[in-house]
Amino acid sequence: VIDPGHGGRDPGATSAIGVKEKDVVLKIGLKVRDSLRKKPGITVFMTREKDVFVPLSDRTKFANDKMAHLFISIHADAVGGDKKRKESTSGYKIYFLSQAKNEDDKSVAMRENAVIKLEERPQRYSELQDVLIDMAGNEYLRESQEMCILIEQEFSSGLDKKISKLHKGIGQANFWVLNGAFMPSVLIEAGFLSHDKEEKLLNDTTFQGSMAHAISDAVVGFCKRFEGAGL
Ligand SMILES: [Zn+2]
Repeated sequence: VIDPGHGGRDPGATSAIGVKEKDVVLKIGLKVRDSLRKKPGITVFMTREKDVFVPLSDRTKFANDKMAHLFISIHADAVGGDKKRKESTSGYKIYFLSQAKNEDDKSVAMRENAVIKLEERPQRYSELQDVLIDMAGNEYLRESQEMCILIEQEFSSGLDKKISKLHKGIGQANFWVLNGAFMPSVLIEAGFLSHDKEEKLLNDTTFQGSMAHAISDAVVGFCKRFEGAGL
């Protein structure tokens, strides 16, 4: 299941000139879908294919209902603050669900989780999250970490050094959109819309295609490793 973040009344991060996360990640997600549909033995479902609002918990419920083997949520980030901070904060990072180990990763998750304010019953997340992080997170932790590594490898070799990695390229935090997925799950922060160069990249069709191919190749690698499918 490919999950383009945000949508509808929730734009996600927005750049200074108005490039919206919800649009960028939908374009990347659709390209991942198209690429994976050409691979034998892989079935792809999308949590959204249009500019519509989808609550976080509906996204994982959708993936659980489809009995998906992998859940990939695609996002882009932005930071506030002065020009210096915006220029010095750049790069992609791939996350799996676990308790954050540092303040930076924690604040990324807080920015992504903030969307629940736009949902009808935001209180359900605080009721659910502690239980679910124990149940689902640990069971699929190793495979989720492996998937992060595979995507990170594809990004660092396949994106022609156009985009750097943030910190070590892989991180962990409590993203509510991953919480409750009964399958390995990862969240990709594709780059920063608050960074001039990355905003242009993320909004560029060719770059979106390269990133989608990298994600698609990582999915194929994951299937070979964990499903034993003769792809
Ligand atoms: Zn997001």
